[in-house]
Amino acid sequence: MSTAYLSHPLCLLHDPGRPEIRDRITAVESRLHKSGLMDFLRSYQAPEATVEQLSRVHKSSLIKWIAIQRSHTKILSKEEQNRAIYTAKAAIVAAGALVYATDLVMSGKHKTAFCNVRPPGHHATSTQDQGFCYFNNVAVGAAHALDAHSLDKVAIVDFDVHHGNGTEEIFENDPRVLFCSTFQHPYYPGCGHETVSSHIVNVPLPSGTTGQQFRDAVMSKWIPAIHDFQPKFIFISAGFDSHKKDSMGGFLLEESDYEWVTSEICTLANLYCEGRVVSTLEGGYNLDSLAASVEAHVRMLMGEEPRIFTPI
Ligand SMILES: [Zn+2]
Repeated sequence: MSTAYLSHPLCLLHDPGRPEIRDRITAVESRLHKSGLMDFLRSYQAPEATVEQLSRVHKSSLIKWIAIQRSHTKILSKEEQNRAIYTAKAAIVAAGALVYATDLVMSGKHKTAFCNVRPPGHHATSTQDQGFCYFNNVAVGAAHALDAHSLDKVAIVDFDVHHGNGTEEIFENDPRVLFCSTFQHPYYPGCGHETVSSHIVNVPLPSGTTGQQFRDAVMSKWIPAIHDFQPKFIFISAGFDSHKKDSMGGFLLEESDYEWVTSEICTLANLYCEGRVVSTLEGGYNLDSLAASVEAHVRMLMGEEPRIFTPI
C-alpha cells in the first residue's frame, strides 16, 4: 500500500463540454481496475479544500467568484445553475485532493499518491481561472507542503503539452519552489519561452517533438536543476495530452516515455526526499492513450521497474 489514489464523485458532475469530459476520469479508473493495479492502491475520497488552503495561492477575488458559482445567487437558468454549482464543487475537491495527498505522504502512510481529479489546474493563476482550470491544484498542494508541513523547498514538474503558466505565475517570486516544465511552443497559452529565472526551468519544444527529444530535454534541463535544488517533496503536473495519439497537441510521446520520466522523478525523490511524490492529472483527451499512459505512470509511482510496453 505504498501509493494512494484520490478522486471524488463530484469530479464526474463537472461538465464544461468536450474535450474536458467526465469520461477522462472513468477511463483512467477502469484501466486501473482492469490492469489489477487498483487492488494495490489505497483509495481515498478527496476532501474539500478550505478557504485557508486555497488562499495560499489564490487571491480572494477568484475564491469569491467560485463561491458565488457554488451558491444560487447568480441569475442563471436551472441548467446553467447546476452546471456552475458542480463546476465549483469539483474545483474545490480537486484542490482538496492535493492537500490530502500531501498530508498522506508527509505522514508516512504512503510514499506516493496519484490524484485522478478534474477540473485540471495548471493554467489557473493567482487571480484567474483559465483554459479548463479553476483552482491550481498542484500549486495548492505545493503551498500546503511548504506552509502546513514547514518544508523549505519543493519541486513541481509538468510534462503536459501546454505550458503550466498558472503554476509559474503563482511561484515566480517564490524561490522555495522549483518549477520544471516541458511544453509545445509556439502553442497555447503562448508564454514561458521567455522566462529567465533560476527556479523556473521552462523547456519550450517544437511541435513534432519525439519521445527521445523529450527525454533529452528532461535529462539536460530538469534533472540537473533538481539535483542542484534537492527538493523535500516533488509534485507532478501529469498531463497526457503530449501523447502522440492525443490530437490536443503536437508531441509524439508514448506510454514508455511517461514510464521513463516518472521513474526518473521517483529516483530523484528517493535520493532527496524519502521518495515523496504526489502526482495529479492535468490534460489528456484521447481516452485510450490517457488510460494507458496513466497506468504506466502509476506503475512507476508504485515502485515497479520500467518495462517495455506493447503498443496500444
Ligand atoms: Zn494540456
